[in-house]
Amino acid sequence: MKRVYNFNPGPATMPLEVLKEAQAEFLSFAESGMSIIEISHRSKQYEKVHNQTKSDILELTGLGDDYEVLFIQGGASMQFAMIPMNFATKKNPGNYVLSGIFSRNAYKEAKILNVGEVAATTEDENFCRVPRQDELKINPDAAYLHVCYNNTIYGTEFHYVPETGDVPLFADMSSDMLSRPVDFKKFSLIYAGVQKNLGPAGVVVVIVRKSLVEKSLETIPTMLRYETYYNKNSLYNTPPAFSIYMVGKVAAWIKANGGLEEMAKRNSAKAKILYDVIDESNEFYKGHAAKDSRSFMNVTFRLPNEELEKKFVAEALEKDLVGVKGHRLVGGMRASIYNAMPIEGVETLADFMKEFRRKN
Ligand SMILES: *Cc1c(COP(=O)(O)O)cnc(C)c1O
Repeated sequence: MKRVYNFNPGPATMPLEVLKEAQAEFLSFAESGMSIIEISHRSKQYEKVHNQTKSDILELTGLGDDYEVLFIQGGASMQFAMIPMNFATKKNPGNYVLSGIFSRNAYKEAKILNVGEVAATTEDENFCRVPRQDELKINPDAAYLHVCYNNTIYGTEFHYVPETGDVPLFADMSSDMLSRPVDFKKFSLIYAGVQKNLGPAGVVVVIVRKSLVEKSLETIPTMLRYETYYNKNSLYNTPPAFSIYMVGKVAAWIKANGGLEEMAKRNSAKAKILYDVIDESNEFYKGHAAKDSRSFMNVTFRLPNEELEKKFVAEALEKDLVGVKGHRLVGGMRASIYNAMPIEGVETLADFMKEFRRKN
């Protein structure tokens, strides 16, 4: 059996140790004689996984008792709708920083409900950077300011935590959650669809300030209310047990590998290798992101023409470098180098890029 270097944006590469562990205990989980997907979500064995995963996430983010971790289905895209439903009104609208397609999609849901306002946008620059603090026009009556911390498609990332005054800060961290230390306490709600950096698709990790949940509106169907998940430890209905179990394994893997400080060190070393190849290529490779907005997770770049880009994808594949084709909105290439991508994978890609440039 052969494993490739998987640069796909999501679903994405997982730590090999985690996959092996899951494989080893798949047929009989915690001596139950059943797999994790066959066992009751009310069983002692499952409950332990569920609660440990929550506490590991809080430990890694350095958040305390005033926060709760929720597990919700429907992907990050359903959070786009749940957030304005639960918190925004016409009088206290949601404010949105548009820094890519996902943040625009989040805003779209608020607009459907007629409770969304744009606080800043870089759309007219094809989202090549995130807005600066001095560009944010936050309505002081806003229910929240929503930002997308890492823009998976464009390869840009926030390198500062926006100051919002008394307005609660919300963030979509789907593609950079647990990739580096952030001052998480400055956020009131953070969510991440786990299939980028944390596990298999099927669950969203939502970290929410408890005092905020207690304010969620009551005119919302049960499964769309944060309060339902909060009151029932995310066990109101059957949770996506396998996804949560895998997120738990990834969180434990991060802890065992030095936590977020070490992840940040590895991730910046990996990103630097690729950005250096781009910057030293005499414009053969052109980065999409403005330098001060460059993502540590998704490295986006173009080649001189589309023909070379097709050739690049095909030849990369021959070297077992998979998933480097960019999103159609940006074109070119995108290398997603999440926590689980080993530095050897990045070095192999960098060597390939240098050789490809020399030959072409
Ligand atoms: C992938 C992605 C989404 C969409 O996630 P789904 O779980 O597919 O709904 C939202 N935001 C960001 C930043 C993403 O990378």
